[in-house]
Amino acid sequence: MVIHYKCPDCGADMGFDSESGKLSCDSCGRKDNVEDFPKEFMFNRFAEGEAVEYHCRNCGAVILTDADTTATTCSFCGAGVVLGDRLSGNMAPAKVIPFTISKEKAMKAFKAWCKNGRLTPKGFMTADRVKSITGIYVPFWLYDLNSKAQADAVCTKVRSYSRGDYIYTETSYYDVHRSVDLNYLKVPADASVKMSDQLMDKLEPFDYSQLKDFNTPYLAGYIAEKYNYDDKQLLSRVKCRIEDYVESYINATITGYNTTAYKSKHIDTTKKQAYYTLLPVWMVCYDYNQAEHVFAMNGQTGKIVGKPPISYGKVAAWFAGIASAVFILLKSAAWIIGGGF
Ligand SMILES: [Zn+2]
Ligand SMILES: [Zn+2]
Repeated sequence: MVIHYKCPDCGADMGFDSESGKLSCDSCGRKDNVEDFPKEFMFNRFAEGEAVEYHCRNCGAVILTDADTTATTCSFCGAGVVLGDRLSGNMAPAKVIPFTISKEKAMKAFKAWCKNGRLTPKGFMTADRVKSITGIYVPFWLYDLNSKAQADAVCTKVRSYSRGDYIYTETSYYDVHRSVDLNYLKVPADASVKMSDQLMDKLEPFDYSQLKDFNTPYLAGYIAEKYNYDDKQLLSRVKCRIEDYVESYINATITGYNTTAYKSKHIDTTKKQAYYTLLPVWMVCYDYNQAEHVFAMNGQTGKIVGKPPISYGKVAAWFAGIASAVFILLKSAAWIIGGGF
């Protein structure tokens, strides 16, 4: 089932507009609320049989998608379409954070980021290296979790004093017990195979106060993917993540001692709720040194993740020429050493 959103005034294709938060028509400027877009202008086309082939309603072309795509644009006429049957049943998202950063703004930010990378090779910015800029809704699970933890530790307080010719050291031992009950709300885990987990973790945080109930018009004009891992498969990953927080919480409650040695620590985390959620990301793919690189931006907050391209000649010049800018040198050295994101 292919869904097109047609402008009730002029018949052109409408797309979700990040600035106004509405469905918007580029031809005549009409804007509609996502929640009350008139159903009679949502055109569905059902595929026949099991072998699903999606066709664009405008030009009849076959819409090229892979099995995970849930929203895309027609590669011939550019119409934004939503593949409704891939968003139903247990594939129906519960929540979405809509894009608030436009394509133009994302592109501007990419250029500014390249120029700030002072080690960017000469000519990088003048050549047209950007292969694609794509707004993608990435599938996530957001978990509400409860952790109950018990910890037992032996702590010491050490006091030294001198009397006469002697220095005395007095060590007092304490049995310390902690029992905590913690709730964590909306802990995210990236549910798509294609996206690097590390990259997605670095795009956090998202502002969850802006979570909306899912509605298909939010996807119009963007690319969207469906989840590859369900909420049970990712639970162990978020549990690990949370248990780090629980441990540091417990550590923070034990203060005023000289030493702390844990005898036992037991953390039990359970899932209270998991929401299938789509989060907005801008991806810029660019070419450099015969390899493709990725610049990614949180489509809600504008936070950037990626590494500016580096010219090794320029790095050498920096090491030779500038002795005072130690901080920046360290930073650039870190870029060279650090692989991936
Ligand atoms: Zn219109
Ligand atoms: Zn088309």
